[in-house]
Amino acid sequence: MRSVTLWRALLGVQKTVIESIEYDEDEQVLVAQVRPTRRAGSRCGRCQRRSPWYDRGEGRRRWRTLDLGTVPVYLEADAPRVNCRTHGPTVRAVPWARHAAGHTTVFDEQVAWLATQCSKTAVTELMRIAWRTVGAIITRVWADVEKLHDRFAGLKRIGIDEISYKRGHRYLTVVVDHDSGRLVWAAPGRDKATLNLFFDALGEQRCAQITHVSADGADWIADVVAERAPNAVRCADPFHIVKWATEALDEVRRQAWNQARGAVNQRRAGRASGHAKALKHARYALWKNPENLTDRQQAKLAWVAKTDPRLHRAYLLKEGLRLVFQLPYDQAVEALDRWIGWARRCRIQAFVDLQRRIIKHRDSILAAIEHGLSNGRIESVNTKIRLITRVAFGFRSPEALIALAMLNLGGHRPTLPGRK
Ligand SMILES: [Zn+2]
Repeated sequence: MRSVTLWRALLGVQKTVIESIEYDEDEQVLVAQVRPTRRAGSRCGRCQRRSPWYDRGEGRRRWRTLDLGTVPVYLEADAPRVNCRTHGPTVRAVPWARHAAGHTTVFDEQVAWLATQCSKTAVTELMRIAWRTVGAIITRVWADVEKLHDRFAGLKRIGIDEISYKRGHRYLTVVVDHDSGRLVWAAPGRDKATLNLFFDALGEQRCAQITHVSADGADWIADVVAERAPNAVRCADPFHIVKWATEALDEVRRQAWNQARGAVNQRRAGRASGHAKALKHARYALWKNPENLTDRQQAKLAWVAKTDPRLHRAYLLKEGLRLVFQLPYDQAVEALDRWIGWARRCRIQAFVDLQRRIIKHRDSILAAIEHGLSNGRIESVNTKIRLITRVAFGFRSPEALIALAMLNLGGHRPTLPGRK
């Protein structure tokens, strides 16, 4: 085997002439001097169009590529500029790397695969790059993957949601396909302008094919959907409705806890202080679905029922609302109206307020049940996106976070370089 063929295989490059290989003993890296083959031609780095030579640019450049064994490897080549008809003087395209990237395509692919498979530490240590660099790499990988697939093909039933990131200071608007469970679109921001961008990308014809849209009940979403997808049935996300009930319950629990603590301050210590503590720890017992309670949590709940009937009533109200979503449609209609009546008379402010909110969204709640929008699926995608926002902390731009989410949940996960 000729050594040129061997080296081309080892470096994983195509349409590339390898001029020489040298081991740099000072830096302990391998450097391959390369150039594109004549057939690769002189093309614009941005649009790949054949373009005439312009100037030498900034001289020679290096691209980091995959290690060989334990040795870091670089490709080194001239980076002249060509004069593109559209883009003007632009650095020439090279067959081994994306435009303006400091890493080769195979390096990028491996980083993208690792970022969807293992921990932050594993990626940065193995590839010897900073987490921010990982962010830049997956952003450009996703930009290319995105062009290859039609994400919106056959889209009919979608869920729209907002996800907070940067410790809750920033938001993404995300769109999920209810039928495939895939994340189809995400963008920074949570307002009408952001959501309009999604419908712009979808195009008028496909907007008309959307049959169902579920959302968390926010007015800005409802308004845009009414305008851009007028044919769609608007549904509430059961996941969010149940969350409202959990929040109302938590408010009641906090009130009870504060009251018990107040009693401690008034020196009726002893029983009151124990009561306050126990209430604080009752949180998970109250939050969890009854079928998932541990024995201890069940005991805690029994204790709440005995010692704090008001809090226990709030708990039953939360559970009652959750159960509505597990009923067949006709029973659900009746159960929801009964629940509304019950909550209206319950004399617990948080649930009286919740009941008003439920009335406002009654139609969309019942639509979700009637059309069988799977709550579990939305919730699981939601949970996964939230995990990703935590992993993505430290990326410079929301685009990197979006790229990581799309590569993970968009249905087109990266593959390792050189594999089918
Ligand atoms: Zn161009």
